[in-house]
Amino acid sequence: MAASPPASDTQRTHLLGQTLDEMRAFAAQFELEPYRAAQLRAWIFQRGATAFDQMSDLSKTLRAQLDERAELYRGTITRQTDAADGVAKLLITWPDGAAVETVWIPEPDRHTACISSQVGCPVGCRFCASGLDGVERNLSAGEIVEQAMRVRRLVTRGDTGADAARLSNVVLMGMGEPLANYEQVVHAIRIIMAPDGMGISARRITLSTVGLPAQIRRLAGEHLAINLALSLHAPDDDLRRELIPWGKGVPIAELIDACREYFDRTGREITLEYVLLAGVNDLPAHALRLAELARRLRCNVNLLRYNPVPTLPFERPSAESAFEFQSILRRQGVNAHVRTSRGRDANAACGQLRRASLVPLNGPGAA
Ligand code: SF4
Repeated sequence: MAASPPASDTQRTHLLGQTLDEMRAFAAQFELEPYRAAQLRAWIFQRGATAFDQMSDLSKTLRAQLDERAELYRGTITRQTDAADGVAKLLITWPDGAAVETVWIPEPDRHTACISSQVGCPVGCRFCASGLDGVERNLSAGEIVEQAMRVRRLVTRGDTGADAARLSNVVLMGMGEPLANYEQVVHAIRIIMAPDGMGISARRITLSTVGLPAQIRRLAGEHLAINLALSLHAPDDDLRRELIPWGKGVPIAELIDACREYFDRTGREITLEYVLLAGVNDLPAHALRLAELARRLRCNVNLLRYNPVPTLPFERPSAESAFEFQSILRRQGVNAHVRTSRGRDANAACGQLRRASLVPLNGPGAA
């Protein structure tokens, strides 16, 4: 079932979701000179304004008019959990009551925002909390960009000096299937990449998908050249159908072909994401089959030990068995890494924070 469109913007234009051209058209409604759009944009993206009142070189009257017709930040952070390793997980609630998760992952050499593309997720991976309730609606481009901007504000904490920490990477790996909300996601990526927008380069942006071959091919033709991660999670069609029912009509071979085309047209190596589920997809035979697939692509394999979700019947494998799985792949000539789970004590498995906030509303017995 298709997700409903983004909640309609009843009154005010969400400026975080506008390209320069769109902002020019918006400014024209006020009979403003075109340069005003660039000025507005600089306030929002370079100077980090959070309210029109801060835009001191605009007249008071104009600021009041803008405030009536437009908004900068639309959501509210309704919950934040901070893990001991510095990972912060935000629950952002929109005016229609829909909520999404956004994560800030600080590392010595980078600061990453992990953002969502939909409220809930249509894919329903058997091992994931986000998929349990299905998809509620698509996010608008502005809501997608706002998540990254909110993490950027946490990273800089108002310090804009030369040595200030900066948001360097954006990954679309939160709730939702980005390619099922294609137009809004691509629009948001253009704003995140724009030099007069967030200015984050394509090689520091990663879109993670369960795989829609036609959209992967379409993305290859957008001239964005962002990184693509394919959430594979199983080395054969039968097991993948069990774990990811949504992908049942898409044979792995077709996905691999679409990813090859993506690499050929963009020059970006593909990442294969593989969540290791103890006793389910982490046996040596699975590693050998995965190696066969990986060798058909220019790719890296990321192995992630599962973060258990209460109520779901999957277990986290031991570190030893994960490294054994990795060794088998490497012996087969595949570049593979076991990734560390970050923020486990911050409800890090995707969808857990949102569900934790839903449970009290739905009652203690809610699924
Ligand atoms: S793992 Fe990702 S694709 Fe699968 S249900 Fe969860 S959010 Fe959706």
